[in-house]
Formats: sequence, structure tokens, C-alpha cells
Amino acid sequence: MYDIVIAGGGAAGFYAAIQIAELSPELNIAIFERGKTVLSKVKVSGGGRCNVTHGEFLPKELATNYPRGEKELLGPFHKYAPMDVMAFFEERGVPLKIEEDGRVFPKSDSSQSIIDCLVTEAERLGVQVLKNSSVKVIDKLNDGWQVTTMNKHYHTKKLLLTTGSNPKIWAQLQKLGHQIISPVPSLFTFNIKDKRIQGIQGISAYATVEVLPKKTFHTDKKNLNLKSNVKDEPVLYSDGPLLITHWGLSGPAILKLSAWGANILHDYNYSFRIRVNWLPEYSTESMEAYLKELKDVEAKKTVMRTNVTELPKRLWKRLVEAANIMPDERWGDINKEQLLALAEQLTASSFKVEGKSTFKEEFVTAGGVDLKEINFKTFESKLHPNLYFAGEIINVDAITGGFNFQNAWTGAYIAAQAIVS
Ligand SMILES: Cc1cc2nc3c(=O)[nH]c(=O)nc-3n(C[C@H](O)[C@H](O)[C@H](O)COP(=O)(O)OP(=O)(O)OC[C@H]3O[C@@H](n4cnc5c(N)ncnc54)[C@H](O)[C@@H]3O)c2cc1C
Repeated sequence: MYDIVIAGGGAAGFYAAIQIAELSPELNIAIFERGKTVLSKVKVSGGGRCNVTHGEFLPKELATNYPRGEKELLGPFHKYAPMDVMAFFEERGVPLKIEEDGRVFPKSDSSQSIIDCLVTEAERLGVQVLKNSSVKVIDKLNDGWQVTTMNKHYHTKKLLLTTGSNPKIWAQLQKLGHQIISPVPSLFTFNIKDKRIQGIQGISAYATVEVLPKKTFHTDKKNLNLKSNVKDEPVLYSDGPLLITHWGLSGPAILKLSAWGANILHDYNYSFRIRVNWLPEYSTESMEAYLKELKDVEAKKTVMRTNVTELPKRLWKRLVEAANIMPDERWGDINKEQLLALAEQLTASSFKVEGKSTFKEEFVTAGGVDLKEINFKTFESKLHPNLYFAGEIINVDAITGGFNFQNAWTGAYIAAQAIVS
């Protein structure tokens, strides 16, 4: 018999348990964790440093980082935001730092500091942690819930599910009448094999990237809403630093596309074309006009050696090659077609994406419990009283930067308040 069972010993589960136990020390609380260790994702998060949240303190701005959950999390972020999370850890002896790009890490640069803090706090407050206890079945009772592990039944008045992206728990919820939005990967990089970017990994430029529609989708009724198919207008757009890697393209511009386009790119089976403008301040037309001027001014210089842009030299060379301009050709000698080809390479380079790779620092799954079925004032199920959710189990995910953990902390905090009240 428990007052509260929390299924899932991850970020959301521990955070909620601590909040509940602090508010009501007399409650009998248990965390059920299927693994033999808890908080395993926290351990590997942020490349082992744990990007615990983001230094964005305006709820409205903060919410814009969630492709799924922006509208629903706005209210919760007014109640519990990154500042509160930072205070939680700092008050418990884990100093944090905000890096230049806004990401928040423990000063120790070690995720173990976060784990130690959560585990010690839970222990101090008397939370029972049952490891190797995978929740298999969830049954509704008249006065609460029955949770069944491998061979035992437990009774609890209130049940908080923080099992992350576990299809088996989603199946249990479907059995209880909940809608589950199909899981698809989010936050990944694009695999591209292309001479223009081969062997120059590490180069980065501020660029715009557009995902072009798939022609074969013309006849696909499901995608008729992609009007742009007809005109070859992009179906997705992003801007930001673009990084050339061993496998293709990465960096914020790509990660944003992978998060916002998680469903479309899944429908495309991760095979599609993108268009990159390496110099977004120019259109192809204005670039062509600029290059025409240069043709006269720099007539005697070789194009390859006269990088007239702010692009890294090695990338400039590759794009000049791709425009069919020979290494010794001079500005004065290139013809109209070559000039236009160069303007196009610089402002509208087309690349074929074939597959995706995991973004090592952080990866998440889009999909989960349908947000329409959750009361965001309490994180309680709208279908079943005394059933709560927090973290990745719900259909919320964010771009990289600490926002995914923030969803877990905020949901856990609000669910804890509701459970206790
Ligand atoms: C490699 C990697 C790096 C990441 N880095 C970052 C980062 O730096 N910043 C950031 O904001 N986000 C990061 N994320 C995302 C972040 O880890 C998740 O959003 C976050 O962990 C979600 O927390 P959660 O508690 O909802 O789920 P989880 O952390 O996944 O925890 C769920 C727990 O439930 C347990 N469980 C599952 N099913 C059962 C069951 N049936 N019975 C009992 N227990 C069960 C699991 O074993 C697990 O311990 C990263 C993700 C990955 C994979």
C-alpha cells in the first residue's frame, strides 16, 4: 500500500518524489524503476555534462522552443520556470553556470552532480526507490490504482507516470482509453553524401535551410495540405549556424528542422532535398548582380583564390568547383552560365538527404500521451482522476538546449503540487 507510486526513476520521477515528500513528509511514496540504476539518461545527458535547463526566463519565449507543447506549456511555465529549477539545485549545493548560448550546466561539468543531488534528497526525505521493478500492468480500482510488476501487485491512491518514451506503458494507457500520438524521432542530423562537403567537416556558417517538397507526394491524399508541392516551395524553413560533419550537415539550423519537421521528415522516410543559402543576406538575383560587378572589378584575379564572401575558404573553393569554374579561371573569363551557377551554389545549393544520424549530445522522441487529454493546471489525466503524467511520456518535445529537461522539471513540480493538495 502506497499513498503515491511514481513509475519511472528518471528526471521527472525523482523531481516529483522530492517535491511531494518535502510538502507532505507523512506520505508513503515509492519510485518504481525498471532498471538496476536510476537517472541513467541524466548521466549521459549533454555529453555527460547534463544541460539541466536554459537561461530563458520569459515563459512566452521559453515555450517557443517546443514544437509540440508550445501552447500547453505556457501556463505551467508561468508557475515553474528555469529560474526555479536553478534555485532548486543551487540551494541544494549544486552551483550552476549559464553558458554564452543560454545552456545551463552544473559548474562541475559533470551530470553526476545532478544525480547525486536528486538521489541524496530522495533518500533524505524517505522516498522508497524500488529498482529492477518494471511496471507491467496498470489497473484502475475504486479507490486508486493497482500497479503490477513482474510478480507483485501494489496498491496506490495516486499514480504518477514518468516512464519516458516506453511503448509498453503507452499501450497500458491505450487500454485505459488514452490516445497516444505515434512516436517518431526528433533532434537528429542529416546524412548527405556530396562532393561539396566531403572532407571539410568542422566548417560552420550562418545559413538558411529549406526542406523541399517530395514530388511523389502529389498524389498522396494524406499530404494534400502541403500546397507547396506544386510550386516547389519549401515545406520547412530554418536559419542558424550550419555545421558540416563527417556524415552530412548538423548544427542548430538542422536540429531545428529535425524537431519541427519530425513528422513530415518521418513521412518522407528521411529521404528528401534541402536548399541551403550560405549567405542569407543575398538572394540568387542579388548575388548574381554582385558577382557581375566583381567580374569587372576583379577581372584579372582567379575566382578560386578570390573569396569575395565571408564563407570559409575551403567551402568557397568547393562551391566554385561545383559551379564548373576551373581552378585557374579568372573573373574576367567566366561566362554568364558560370556566374549564375556560382550565384546559385552560394544562395540556393541543393543537397540530397539520405537518412539521419543521432545527435549525440541529446536525442528525444516526439509523440506520447495526447495533450488534449491532460489538464495542464495539474498534469492530471482528464480521463481518470488520480492519474498524473510528467516528462517525456507526454507528447511534448523540444529543440536542444536544456528545454527537454525543463519540461520534465516543470511537469513534475506541478503534478507534485496537485497530488499533495
Ligand atoms: C543521450 C541523451 C542526452 C540528452 N541530453 C539532454 C540534455 O542535456 N538536456 C535536456 O534537456 N535533455 C536531454 N535529453 C533529453 C532528456 O534526457 C529527456 O527529455 C528526459 O530524460 C526525460 O525525462 P523523463 O523523466 O520523462 O524520462 P526518462 O529520463 O527517460 O526516465 C524514464 C525512467 O522510467 C524508467 N521506466 C520506463 N518504463 C518503466 C516501467 N515500465 N517501469 C518502471 N520504470 C520504467 C526508465 O528506465 C527511466 O529510468 C537527452 C536525451 C538523451 C537520450
